[in-house]
Amino acid sequence: MISRKQFIDSLDKKIPNFRINQINDLLFDKTKDSFEQASNLPKDLVQGLNENCGFYSIKNVKIFKSKLDGTFKGLFKDLEGNLFESVLMENSKGNFSICVSSQIGCAMGCTFCATGTMGFIRNLLAEEIVDQYRFWNRFIFENNLEDKRISNVVFMGMGEPLANYANVKECINTWLKYTDLGPTKITVSTVGIIPNLKRLLKDDSWPECKIAISLHSYDPVKRKEIVPTSSPNFHQDIIDWSFAYKDKFPSKSHYITFEYTLIDGINDSKQNAKFLAEFVLKTAFSKINVIPLNEVSGKSFQKVKKNNLQTFKEEVLKRGVDITQRKTRGDDINAACGQLVVNETL
Ligand code: SF4
Repeated sequence: MISRKQFIDSLDKKIPNFRINQINDLLFDKTKDSFEQASNLPKDLVQGLNENCGFYSIKNVKIFKSKLDGTFKGLFKDLEGNLFESVLMENSKGNFSICVSSQIGCAMGCTFCATGTMGFIRNLLAEEIVDQYRFWNRFIFENNLEDKRISNVVFMGMGEPLANYANVKECINTWLKYTDLGPTKITVSTVGIIPNLKRLLKDDSWPECKIAISLHSYDPVKRKEIVPTSSPNFHQDIIDWSFAYKDKFPSKSHYITFEYTLIDGINDSKQNAKFLAEFVLKTAFSKINVIPLNEVSGKSFQKVKKNNLQTFKEEVLKRGVDITQRKTRGDDINAACGQLVVNETL
């Protein structure tokens, strides 16, 4: 099997845009599951698509369901046969969020994260990311879960999305064209690859989605221990970048979120909270989202203690910085933040 894009590019005659739209309308129709159900495509095109590409570029291998909160985790095969994961979970608005992967494995090697232990294997193609939405949308339809819809997408699965810039951009623009997702319902969560953060500021086709930066520490030395790719100038670069970002996206819905994984005894003290708030106050229009560490087997890091979590949030709040807390979901099936890793072999 080859990708749909490869197949379309291989045709002698260029397919007109209206046909591409018809193909995508079919692909995004959750009630359809084969090219043969197209009522408006020429027979030879349907035959070519059928013979060369799957209706989905990714293949679901297994579904896990959390007994704690009903979160679903899917194990998938990409076009090259590598395994990766993607998650469907209920969100605070009573709808579904999906957490998508942009790469197989990840080169960033964040020390608390299970995905980082896999190393980098490959970038997913735009359609392999697009199809994670399509798969879950069909899954909701097939399993009669339609009292809820996919209202949000977060790039917090496997991989660093800004290290797969072109495919992530193409994927988001496809969702914006063919689904009811608005740009601010899609969040690209990044460790903060500075050249690509700067690149998106100058890129007219970069979608108006939201950006979340995984900070984890206000201190450059401590941050590098947690995010090994961090540079000594990272914090100043982010302050400068945040103002340029605000110039490009001045709307209030484009605040920057700093993700902060709280790890027991590492970055969860009162002093850490004070310095974090002071750092965030130097940036343009930003909020903090704390994530109590989801423990990963084989790693010594432990979850922040309840009391310390509360004190941390209070210390930040009293300095006038907005702080929210990510609800842990799918902990029992290793679907929570930082827990995605492929251990299975087929
Ligand atoms: S936290 Fe994200 S960027 Fe860091 S290693 Fe894990 S997947 Fe990669």
